Amino acid sequence: MRLAGARGRAFFDQSPLSILVFGADGYAIDANPAAERLWKSSRDKLREYNILRDARLESKGVLTHIRRAFEGEHTAAPPALLDRPDAGSEARPGWYEIQAYPVRDSRGTVCEVVVTFQDVSDRRQSEQERAGLLERAEQARDNAEDAGSRQAFLAEAGAVLVSSLDYQTTLASVARLAVPRIADWCAVDLLEEDGSLRRLAVAHADQAKSDVAWELSHRYPPGPDDVIPRVLRTGRPETAADISEDMLRRSARDPEHFRMIQDLGLCSYMVLPLVARGRILGAITFATAESGRRFGPIDLSVATDLAHRAAMAVDNARLYGNVMRERAAAQAALQALAESEERFRSLSTCSPVGKLMADVEGRCTYTNPRCQSICGFGEQEALGDGWTCFIHPADREAVVESWRQLVRTGGEFSRQFRFQRPDGSVRWVHMRSAPMLSSRGEPMGHAATFEDITESRLAEEELRRYNEDLQRFAYVASHDLKEPLRMVSTYTQMLAKRYSGRLDADADEFIGFVVDGVKRMRALIDDLLAYSRLINQRGETAGPADCEAVLDWVLLNLQVAIGESGAEIEREPLPVVPVDRVQIGQLLQNLIGNAIKYRGKEPPRIRIGARRNGAEWVFSVADNGIGIDPAYWERIFGVFKRLHGKEYPGTGIGLAICKKIVESHGGRIWVESQPGRGATFRFTLPALRETVADTAAKP
Ligand code: ADP
Repeated sequence: MRLAGARGRAFFDQSPLSILVFGADGYAIDANPAAERLWKSSRDKLREYNILRDARLESKGVLTHIRRAFEGEHTAAPPALLDRPDAGSEARPGWYEIQAYPVRDSRGTVCEVVVTFQDVSDRRQSEQERAGLLERAEQARDNAEDAGSRQAFLAEAGAVLVSSLDYQTTLASVARLAVPRIADWCAVDLLEEDGSLRRLAVAHADQAKSDVAWELSHRYPPGPDDVIPRVLRTGRPETAADISEDMLRRSARDPEHFRMIQDLGLCSYMVLPLVARGRILGAITFATAESGRRFGPIDLSVATDLAHRAAMAVDNARLYGNVMRERAAAQAALQALAESEERFRSLSTCSPVGKLMADVEGRCTYTNPRCQSICGFGEQEALGDGWTCFIHPADREAVVESWRQLVRTGGEFSRQFRFQRPDGSVRWVHMRSAPMLSSRGEPMGHAATFEDITESRLAEEELRRYNEDLQRFAYVASHDLKEPLRMVSTYTQMLAKRYSGRLDADADEFIGFVVDGVKRMRALIDDLLAYSRLINQRGETAGPADCEAVLDWVLLNLQVAIGESGAEIEREPLPVVPVDRVQIGQLLQNLIGNAIKYRGKEPPRIRIGARRNGAEWVFSVADNGIGIDPAYWERIFGVFKRLHGKEYPGTGIGLAICKKIVESHGGRIWVESQPGRGATFRFTLPALRETVADTAAKP
């Protein structure tokens, strides 16, 4: 190259550009010092270098440009990364901008080509840095936009989630909202109380696809090792950025299942637990398919946020539901209570029985109208202790005292007493009270009923007086009748003695009748007298009597009858009882006497015994006589009640006397018998107190 004079040479030598000059054959013919530095080679050495055969430049696509310069074109190759041409140990690749200028001779033929290498590595680096910054800025902008839309999505989802307490519908709308902004698919599954899994929602932009998903979840409910049950167990989210065919194959139950899930074309999934207050409520699943997106950390964080909000919504809705249910139950209970109170009041208002309610301290809180009308107080007057002021002064102290005692001890109360009403009239009441307990057994107060027994009390009183008069009359009559009867008897006996056989046969017979009648009348009067004596001694008990000794005495009295009838007497040991010995004697004598009297064809066999039964003795007198039809077992104990005529003499008072004696000591008397098969009379009498204690002490 012929450079234009010394200035040209100086410019060539001092140029910071590496300049190489090539001959038309491609061999270097000149190189400036920058090129020598670049090549770490001398100008002479460089003459062996042929640029048109440089494989490196060829491979970087630079040589095409240079060739074009050899053909007469000024070319500039785009910056290329080249090893430094010297390729020495310090060689490092650098970015070079290469330009090639053809130099023509006077005929216009390209005779030389000047190639400049400009090291643009630094510029290139700063350009790359700028590009990187730009990219990051763009990414940042995209991210900001994404974050903004994520925030907007979460805000929207959050608003939907708190908008209603119907969490099932709400979760379905949130799943729809997530598609396609977060995922192509979204499904929500909730854990039921029995631990089973219920698919609540499946959303996909294409309804036909969500139908397939529903069908899938029905046909192939998840097994324990599937992702969702696993997430529910561990409470940890599970994600797969890339769903491989192998994964699908492993999770498919059968070829049909595999085909169905493969058709969904899933790429990536995330399954997150729905956790609220430490409890796993269900799971939310996101998946991508046709969008081809792969889930990354940012998606997971959005999904986590959404899952958290959804879980809170479900939890809140359930809590609210529980509170509402409890409130409804409480309201129903209150309503029922109000109705029952109303029923109680209306029943109580028209009740024919007086009612009084008192609190736990015995203070009256309520009386019904009937109670007020019986006792003579007004509703207000009765409250507190007011009702006690209306009790008859003669009864008040005792009633109030026993009412207080009842309140202290919590027992039951049953008492008859009088109320004196403000108009001066007196009413007898039977007051009964029992403590009221709540369903938990706690005392709530006392409920009392008042029965107006004035009429029956008066009737009883009258009857008692009437009975007393009758008894007195019976006694006086029988007592006073004895005297004239004795006279009739004496004179009839004299008549019989003196005139028997001296008058005609009729007269003898008549005299016989009179004597007999007088005898029977005496027996009757004696029995009547004994009976009315008994009545007048009611409630008095004397004794104790040793029944062994009493029986000895009775058998002595009955000696003649026993002898005549040939009766056999069998006796068991008898106790000592707190009963007057005359009365127990009368009792035994009547029963044994009857056993002899009402004998059958056989001579009488009579067994007398007693056995202990708790606090009483059960005596028995058994015979082998004619017996009694069960129809008469009760009746024979009434006064003058007889089953026979003259063939068995008697007054019909004996058993009535027995009953009176037994009952006046709190006992019972009864008979067990069949006609022709004998009779067993049993009666009870109290045991001696000491004996009761002794017996009770025995194991
Ligand atoms: P009575 O003076 O007639 O014997 P009781 O009052 O002693 O009066 O007896 C009432 C009736 O009970 C008797 O008339 C008799 O018919 C029946 N009776 C009493 N004891 C016996 C007995 N041991 N066997 C069969 N009948 C009896």
